Amino acid sequence: MATVFSKIISGEIPSYKIAEDWNHLAFLDINPLRLGHTLVIPKKEIDYIFDMDDDALAGLMQFSKKVAKAIKSAVPCKKVGVSVIGLEVAHTHIHLVPIDAVSDMNFAFPKLVLNDSQLSKVSTQIRAAFNS
Ligand code: AMP
Repeated sequence: MATVFSKIISGEIPSYKIAEDWNHLAFLDINPLRLGHTLVIPKKEIDYIFDMDDDALAGLMQFSKKVAKAIKSAVPCKKVGVSVIGLEVAHTHIHLVPIDAVSDMNFAFPKLVLNDSQLSKVSTQIRAAFNS
C-alpha cells in the first residue's frame, strides 16, 4: 500500500510544496515543531533511510542541503536542525527544523497548530528563497 508521502508525490493528498527535482520532494510538515519545519523525501518509496543505496542517500542529503539553505534565509533562526525519526510514516524523510535552542528539536513536545494562511505564507517564502 502506498504511504501517505507517496500519495503526496502523486498529488492524491495535498501538501505545502517547497521544492522538487526528479528524485526528491520537499514539503512542510503538517504538524510542525517550528514554523518552517520541512520534510525532504526520496520519490522512490523506501522505509528506512539506511537501507538506501549510497548514491541515493548522498542525493537526498545534497537536496536537503539546498532546502536547508532556503529555510535559513527565509525563516529567522540560528540554524536548521536535521533529524530522522520515521516511526510514524514508513517512507524515508529528513526533518529540517529552524532552531534557536536545542529544545526546538524535541519531538516529544506538543506540535504547533498553524492555520492555512500561516503554512501557505511560510511555504511561499521558503520556495522563493529556494528558487532565487
Ligand atoms: P516520523 O515518521 O516519526 O518522522 O513522523 C512523521 C512526520 O510526518 C510527522 O512529523 C508528521 O507531522 C508528518 N506528517 C504526517 N502526515 C503528513 C502530511 N500529510 N503532510 C505533511 N506532514 C505529514
